[in-house]
Amino acid sequence: GGVKESHVIRPINKNVVHRICAGQVILDLSSAVKELVENSLDAGATSIEIALKEYGLESFQVIDNGSGISPQNFNVLALKHHTSKLLDFPDLQSLTTFGFRGEALSSLCALGDLTVETRTINEVVATHLTYDRTGLLTAERKTARQVGTTVTVKKLFSNLPVRSKEFRRNIRKEYGKLISLLNAYALIAKGVRLVCTNTAGKNVRSVVLKTQGSGSLQDNIITVFGTSTFSCLEPVTLSISDGCVVEGFISKSGYGSGRNIGDRQFFFVNGRPVDMPKVGKLVNELYRGANSRQYPIAIMSFSVPTRAYDVNVTPDKRKIFFSDESSILQSLREALEKIYSSNQASYLVNRI
Ligand code: ADP
Ligand code: MG
Repeated sequence: GGVKESHVIRPINKNVVHRICAGQVILDLSSAVKELVENSLDAGATSIEIALKEYGLESFQVIDNGSGISPQNFNVLALKHHTSKLLDFPDLQSLTTFGFRGEALSSLCALGDLTVETRTINEVVATHLTYDRTGLLTAERKTARQVGTTVTVKKLFSNLPVRSKEFRRNIRKEYGKLISLLNAYALIAKGVRLVCTNTAGKNVRSVVLKTQGSGSLQDNIITVFGTSTFSCLEPVTLSISDGCVVEGFISKSGYGSGRNIGDRQFFFVNGRPVDMPKVGKLVNELYRGANSRQYPIAIMSFSVPTRAYDVNVTPDKRKIFFSDESSILQSLREALEKIYSSNQASYLVNRI
């Protein structure tokens, strides 16, 4: 028999590759908004507003007062692997920005309709920019705006039928996940004002999250969760070898959050919200010894030398590889055991 057409190995069309990869960087609504908020933080913004239409289904917009984008970058802004943050591979070791792969804007172009309004301190007017699916600049006009950047994405996933259907079907869950993620930034970003609004149906714009941008983790916790919740937390501060420091708060043994596991548990590495399943497991396990009916609230911020971990593990950068995870876990275990052994008595009193 002859060789079948399907046995021929050929390169995939460039635009098809782009669409495939984009769907891995931008998984859902919250990962899309996360990329934009991180860009605003990287641009030094002290005020970031997230404006949703129909919970993000129709559009979402991130408005910041950061540095803005210079006209010389307009053409390459949304091209794949174009970034102002990373030049050479060794730079990955000393990275302090959230972004470094130049994938977010290009991926968002592939998955929705992207427009940008931006102005730097050197321009008197702002520019409104429109990009196509491949990240090419297709239209440009002048507009009025303060210094900073607004990125708008309309109709996310409209060209990925399965994802688009899922997005609509799961919108409540997606929206909840987004709010939880924004809470994570509200907790960790110091001196950054965060506002999130949503406009749905014929209703007026409603504010769903608002912080003043205070200067400490403690103040941010009070803003996000309130004073009464804060008063049920115990500070955790510890210094682990190799320059790793943990600052955080965890529920006192008598006062968990009583909800689902993982609810109100936030972990950060050098200001980046990340998933830390092993730390989460440890926290829950030790807490269970003191209070078996609830889960603890846990907010833990790890400061680690940039050479001691790798964030370039998954496309969404939620996963972290530590060079010495076991000593971090061991130190944390000892600190938490100390807290809960001295807390035990107060929990018993509480129960009576
Ligand atoms: P990365 O963040 O990895 O560099 P992105 O695709 O997210 O990749 O952004 C590409 C580039 O666009 C950034 O490197 C930055 O120079 C610029 N940029 C994106 N968003 C903003 C913003 N809100 N303010 C200023 N510059 C921005
Ligand atoms: Mg980015």
